[in-house]
Amino acid sequence: MLEKFERYKLTFGPTPIERMARLSAHLGGGVEIFAKREDCNSGLAFGGNKLRKLEYIVPDAIASGADTLVSIGGVQSNHTRMVAATAARLGMKCRLVQEAWVPHEDAVYDRVGNILLSRVMGAEVELVDAGFDIGIRQSWENAIADIKARGGKPYAIPAGASVHKFGGLGYVGFAEEVRAQEQDLGFRFDYVVVCTVTGSTHAGMLVGFAKDGRQRRVIGIDASATPAQTKAQVLDIARKTADLVSLGTPVTDDDVVLIEDYAYPCYGVPSEETKAAIRLCARLEGVMTDPVYEGKSMQAMIDLVKKGYFPAGSRILYAHLGGVPAINGYAYAFRNG
Ligand SMILES: *Cc1c(COP(=O)(O)O)cnc(C)c1O
Repeated sequence: MLEKFERYKLTFGPTPIERMARLSAHLGGGVEIFAKREDCNSGLAFGGNKLRKLEYIVPDAIASGADTLVSIGGVQSNHTRMVAATAARLGMKCRLVQEAWVPHEDAVYDRVGNILLSRVMGAEVELVDAGFDIGIRQSWENAIADIKARGGKPYAIPAGASVHKFGGLGYVGFAEEVRAQEQDLGFRFDYVVVCTVTGSTHAGMLVGFAKDGRQRRVIGIDASATPAQTKAQVLDIARKTADLVSLGTPVTDDDVVLIEDYAYPCYGVPSEETKAAIRLCARLEGVMTDPVYEGKSMQAMIDLVKKGYFPAGSRILYAHLGGVPAINGYAYAFRNG
């Protein structure tokens, strides 16, 4: 589906699929859980889902003649960390707007984890006091204008690399990769569980799996706590991406399956149930998830299995999208493990 698009390699290649045998058994053994390890997809600063998206955006950035990548996210944004790593790899400068998206108080929140890594990789980090919003922000426009005023040539990458014309392509590639891996495994997955916030991961998968009619088997777990906006953004990106890859079938409202029950209390703040899911997965599998994204989709998958949402015998593919560095910003919450 992606032959006509240029890809700049930032990842190692196809990510492994691992069986989560102990977690499956713990949940009664009625379903089989597997994880696709997008969290270890690259040698660039701990990797993660944004690199798969950036692989299709970088050729456009290079072609534009830019010398600075500009992006935006919360203080503990994984995306901005991956933009900083990409800029370093390309020999470009990096300017990051880090907003106060999360009402979370930890003494070292803006010193550790993702933001620490971005600073070490040489990004110019600007902390801005604005709340959560997955849309285009004034602070980001200001940063772009500032770079121009200094004689630089910015290339703008929106939050989560999502509402970029090529933002959905990377996860179309994920679906193609899974199809090839299914050939080798000798079976097909019945469901894919994915954490959704800015939307292009889910949207790309939806388009990729629509090729064989499986788009509604992509189960998005909202972690934004603004699900109406997230769902609309997934649909919009999926439609634009479907056009771009000439999918040939329309993407409808019902194709976006987004479960809204696990984002509480708000974006970036883990509930007690999220923390319990993080511990359970860590203790059964040695696999780490984070309090902002993957801990919530892990919590959701565990709860949905317990509630019988997936028919007996289902094979579930948990897309592990990365994000673990952020857990350092939650040191107090996990002080006793
Ligand atoms: C960005 C991110 C997500 C959400 O992906 P979107 O494409 O923004 O919906 C999920 N998990 C992790 C670890 C992320 O960094």
